[in-house]
Amino acid sequence: MIRIGQAGIPLSCKGRTNKDGLRYTKEILDLNAMEIQFVRGLHAMEDEEAEFIRSYSQENDVEIHVHAPYYINLANDDEAALSYEKVLHSAKLADKMGAKTVVIHPGYYDDDEKKTLRTIVKNLKVLQKMMKKEGIEKVNLGIETMGKQKVFGSVEEIFEVCTKVKGVIPVIDLGHIHARCNGCLKEREDFERIFEIFKPLNLSHYLIHITGVLYENGNELYHIPIKKGDMPLMPFIDVILDNKYNVTLISESPLLEHDAVYIRLQVEKAIMKRTGKEEADYRDLSEIP
Ligand SMILES: [Zn+2]
Repeated sequence: MIRIGQAGIPLSCKGRTNKDGLRYTKEILDLNAMEIQFVRGLHAMEDEEAEFIRSYSQENDVEIHVHAPYYINLANDDEAALSYEKVLHSAKLADKMGAKTVVIHPGYYDDDEKKTLRTIVKNLKVLQKMMKKEGIEKVNLGIETMGKQKVFGSVEEIFEVCTKVKGVIPVIDLGHIHARCNGCLKEREDFERIFEIFKPLNLSHYLIHITGVLYENGNELYHIPIKKGDMPLMPFIDVILDNKYNVTLISESPLLEHDAVYIRLQVEKAIMKRTGKEEADYRDLSEIP
């Protein structure tokens, strides 16, 4: 199953609430996922809106994820306390909305890398306990691969953390991975390697962020439109289709839904190439040999 959507309210949607954005995602864009962004400070969301999002997304088969505020640091015990509040707030709303994942950034390196990993693992466990105490059981914590050298979150590190904290899942941010390795995602094998690393986790689903990215010396500078970036999409789509991976692809490009639709067109092109037909629906992989 392939799901495609964008991070946040579509740019072309006149209404500026998440409720408006969700309806637009389904009814106008015909996409089937959305990642709701609580990234600029703590957003309040009325119960009524959360309820609407839950029932609408279930009835219309749109998968919901939530992104917690960007500034989270679980690698430092003092800052972790503040981070818990932010994540819990996002997780409670995620639970009300029926979201699958609350996405967080793990934190900044302390003095050494091993110690940073241990602290993050310890604090993620604390956070999970807090979520459980709040009765939040269906929302997974997702930790993102990060795009800057001073930030914890290489593919290998995120994998390590996920092996050590049960129930925490990786969020594969392709733009970040590409920036961090200074443009290493070029060929099919480069994308295959990412899935190889996460394979021991036996995941039945992957949440993946996609954007074009401008980078320098292994550090992300800006998100740019997919077509302006130097990370090719097709080899990645080939890997997904050949393995029939169950994925949700979230466009984090500055063009948001425009690039989500671009991803969708590329997926459909790749399906048509395989089936030899002149039509394809990105949701339906059943005819791929
Ligand atoms: Zn993120």
